[in-house]
This record gives sequence, C-alpha cells and structure tokens, in this order.
Amino acid sequence: MVTHAFFELLKQFFTEPATNLFPVRNAPQNVHKTLKAVEAGKASINPPVEVPPGFRGKILYDREACIGCQMCIKVCPSMTIENLPEERKVKFYISRCTFCALCTEICPKKCIKMSDQFIMANLDKYGDDMIVLDSGNFTAEDKAKEEPKKEAPPAPPKPTRPAPPAPAATPKPVEKPKKTPPAPAAPVAPATPPAPAAPKQ
Ligand code: SF4
Ligand code: SF4
Repeated sequence: MVTHAFFELLKQFFTEPATNLFPVRNAPQNVHKTLKAVEAGKASINPPVEVPPGFRGKILYDREACIGCQMCIKVCPSMTIENLPEERKVKFYISRCTFCALCTEICPKKCIKMSDQFIMANLDKYGDDMIVLDSGNFTAEDKAKEEPKKEAPPAPPKPTRPAPPAPAATPKPVEKPKKTPPAPAAPVAPATPPAPAAPKQ
C-alpha cells in the first residue's frame, strides 16, 4: 500500500498538470490588481482558458433594443434586475446573479445574453464592473448573423419514385423441331416379264 502511494507520488513529478495555472503562472500577491492589469492589456492570463459551448458567464445587455417589458424581472430568481421606469430600461447587479439564464430565454427582444466572461472577482459588489447598464447593440448583429441562414433553407430532398418493376421476361416459345417429310420411296422398276419359252421343234 505504501509502495503504491510512493510510486503514484513519483509519477506526479513527471506528468503535465491537468489544470490550468490560473490566472497567471506565478500566483500574484494581489489577484485583484492582476485582473485589472489583464483588463487594461498590461498582463495576459495563462492560456488556454477556454469555455465550453453554452457557457453562462457575465450578462450582456443591449439597452437600445430593450422595450422595458419587465419580463426578465419577473423570472429572475435572485432579484438581480432593477426596473428603471422613467427610461423603460433595466439594470443588472451582477453580484446577485446566479447565471441561470432564465432572463435570456424569456426576453422577447433577445437583448440579454450570457457571455464567456468569468473573471468577475471584485471587492466592490456595486462597482462599475459589477453593474451592467449597456453592453452595446449586439442584438442587431446577432439577428444579421441568423438571417442568412433563414433566407436559404436547405432544399428538401426530392421524393424519388421507386422504379417500376421490370416486366417479367416472356418465355420464348419453344420451337418444335420441323418434321422432315419422309423421302419418297424410289419407284420400283416393273418386273420384266419372263421371256417366252422357245417353241419346241
Ligand atoms: S441569469 Fe438568472 S439570476 Fe442572472 S439576471 Fe438572469 S434570471 Fe437573474
Ligand atoms: S425582458 Fe428583455 S425587453 Fe423586456 S425588460 Fe427585460 S431586457 Fe428589456
């Protein structure tokens, strides 16, 4: 048992780490400052930090496309969204968000969506980074991307008629062997009458 554990330990020294060294190779003294430096383009996080398709990151909100229907407020389970009645718009407090994506599904204008951004560590939960007021006019872009697909739907495959069954081969009449008439019998030569007996003297 101890020997097995020892070999496992040795093996770990020579294998690649399964996890990503995040966010930078050497742990910084102040992660918050490092993330700020990353956002400002002064430092880069350790690649690869990829997210799977359908990842639910920080909310994006297209303020211009929003019609203020408040459907998102009704479904939000964590009271993340505040109504702004005078402007007929909404406001998101990301520190409350549970990333359930219900608001993105119910929005009739598709002006809320989840991004790939997962770096949201912040000391101030009401800071500018943690409040979403407007993420730009992405709804029109998303629609434009989808429209070409709608314009040219793939042509349905033409129904192919099954080929009619080939007519059954008619059997050829079996030719009867022609009967050759029997050869006419050769005429029998008339029997020569016997020569008359010579008269006796
Ligand atoms: S993702 Fe869920 S929790 Fe976050 S704002 Fe939308 S409905 Fe609310
Ligand atoms: S559901 Fe969509 S359109 Fe309605 S208020 Fe929320 S963000 Fe605006």
